[in-house]
Amino acid sequence: MRAALFPGPEVCEIVERQPLVPAEGQVVVRVEACGVCGTDAHIYRGQFPARFPVVAGHEFAGVVEETGPGIASLRVGDHAAVDPNIHCGACRPCRRGLPHLCRDLAAIGVTQDGGFATHCRVPARQVYKVPGDMPLAVAAMAEPVACCVHGIDRAGDRAGDVVVLIGAGTIGLILLQLALLHGAAAAVVSEPSPEKRRAAEQLGASRVVDPGAESLSAIVGEATEGSGAEIVIECVGSQETAQQAMELAGEGGRVLLFGVAPQAAAITVSPYEVYRKEITVTGSFTNPFAHGRALALLSSGRLKVEHLISHRLSLEEVPRGIELLESRRATKVMIEPQQSQ
Ligand SMILES: [Zn+2]
Ligand SMILES: [Zn+2]
Repeated sequence: MRAALFPGPEVCEIVERQPLVPAEGQVVVRVEACGVCGTDAHIYRGQFPARFPVVAGHEFAGVVEETGPGIASLRVGDHAAVDPNIHCGACRPCRRGLPHLCRDLAAIGVTQDGGFATHCRVPARQVYKVPGDMPLAVAAMAEPVACCVHGIDRAGDRAGDVVVLIGAGTIGLILLQLALLHGAAAAVVSEPSPEKRRAAEQLGASRVVDPGAESLSAIVGEATEGSGAEIVIECVGSQETAQQAMELAGEGGRVLLFGVAPQAAAITVSPYEVYRKEITVTGSFTNPFAHGRALALLSSGRLKVEHLISHRLSLEEVPRGIELLESRRATKVMIEPQQSQ
């Protein structure tokens, strides 16, 4: 097998390794597609607590190539999407129904080798079967979609709400579709890039806003009789947009801080406004109980992600994929490890 290994920050080496052998309860997946995510970029730059040397890549799908002893649920040849997050089951949050907040969380592609490789060995219980007619690059998108499904669970939106989305990258465009499927009466999307604004419009945004040229708060005011939005979803992860999100919520508004902000970022919250308007501020971490729902939505055809894939690159091009992501020129970069260079 071949893998794109990060021996340490900002180094990527293509390494040849012995074929993987699955142990009890494990399968080996031939990786057909693995998305590049902001987390991979943070690992590569040494800004994320990964375990070096590591093969990154946690958004992947492929074909089961070998099953270890004791596997009844999967067969060789099955198409598979992998949920990368592995919880311990024994810590306090795990035992209180919050396994995704596990204090000993392991993740394929972060704390153990992941999908930037021709093959990956994973516990069978992390694998979801994928219908044979679903393109595997779409199945690989089940991971970010699942994170968004959990985000919508957390936002607690109701049919008829006005939803504001700040940022229309891959995540913003998935959350936009989910909010509309969930019954949003209107979705206002703020995004500086004209291409991404156009994509948001095509996916059903009722109003797109160029934050450099228009006042988002005035437009949200117009859409809500001067109240502010019922749901505000921040999908950028900057201090400024998180602050803006707080200010756009109306009476009973719920603010979902979905974008990953720098650890040192801080915003101002008015306790009086939170009291008087019953504002709820919430976060969303990973994808608990959502991978299967994400795949169901993808297979229904009601959630569209294939056109969000802007680049399909080989294993050798992992650093280029990360640079494309960081430059914000790409929407979704997919690594296809079976592509020969
Ligand atoms: Zn990710
Ligand atoms: Zn745990």
